[in-house]
Amino acid sequence: MDLPTYAIEAKALVKTYPATKAVPAKQALKGVDLKVARGSIFGLLGPNGAGKSTFINILAGLVKKTSGEVKLWGVDIDQHPRTARAAIGVVPQEIAADVFFTPRESLEVQGGLYGVPRGERRTDQLLAALGLTDKADAYVRQLSGGMKRRLMVAKAMVHSPPILILDEPTAGVDVELRRQLWEYVRELNQLGVTIVLTTHYLEEAEALCDTIAIVNRGEVVACEPTRTLLGRLDTRAVVVTPQEPLAHAPSLVGFEGRLRPDGRLAVSFKSGAGGEVEAVLAAVRAAGVGIKDLSTEEPDLEDVFLALTYGDPNAADPTRD
Ligand code: ADP
Ligand code: MG
Repeated sequence: MDLPTYAIEAKALVKTYPATKAVPAKQALKGVDLKVARGSIFGLLGPNGAGKSTFINILAGLVKKTSGEVKLWGVDIDQHPRTARAAIGVVPQEIAADVFFTPRESLEVQGGLYGVPRGERRTDQLLAALGLTDKADAYVRQLSGGMKRRLMVAKAMVHSPPILILDEPTAGVDVELRRQLWEYVRELNQLGVTIVLTTHYLEEAEALCDTIAIVNRGEVVACEPTRTLLGRLDTRAVVVTPQEPLAHAPSLVGFEGRLRPDGRLAVSFKSGAGGEVEAVLAAVRAAGVGIKDLSTEEPDLEDVFLALTYGDPNAADPTRD
């Protein structure tokens, strides 16, 4: 088969977790369209509860989608589930270490599960690549958290999949290990492996990924090259509390104003040579708006979320689940 243009293609992917006695039904994915180009290091970035793990777990076959289509390496997961899934290695968010095996045994068993013939297994190579050679014959329960996580990555790679998917690979791990993992991810990518990782750290996505999709409340609110996305982060906002409540955002000369649900007027501008705040305030005054109070906001991920999800009444709810 020709190499696919996209390593992963999801179309209109919906997941509704059914209600239980304890919790109401939850639509965790609301029609997600995503394409991951072959060869990419692709970041799925979003706050806790955004739906990142649900997306990954559907690809991995751990969660059953409600509707929509997914192709892995060009193969539909409904039509040819085994072939499709053979194209991915997944490192889940939760570390599940088999306590009765050594890392070497663990990799051998995993290779067996994937039908990798004994002679073609790369156990020693994987142990070395993940810095586990010293611990190859130790019991897994004797490994540190960081070592267990590296072992999970090695396990995901036993069948040499063209796509490696990492769900929050560095959540709660120390800086040193984070660097090591990034390094390994980059090496794999240079060898041609397409990488998808989820994270809620902007800086991680920024450091590693060539493309970033931002997910919020089960929806993709942006998907673009990292550089383009970071360009948006130069955007800052002057947030004005008007003296009198405004019914709608006034039209401003040279700027776009947004009325936030809390009644404040947010005016975005590109930070540049300086003097922009003055210009914004002049435009606000010229529109006849009295200024009671004001602040300028730091360009953080939250701002981008706000800018991208503005108009979605749910997005303003600070009590994220
Ligand atoms: P993320 O990985 O981005 O933090 P998740 O995919 O884990 O987000 O969760 C998305 C939403 O789906 C959350 O509101 C979460 O509470 C809900 N959810 C996740 N798993 C389940 C489940 N097994 N049953 C019910 N709801 C779930
Ligand atoms: Mg998650």
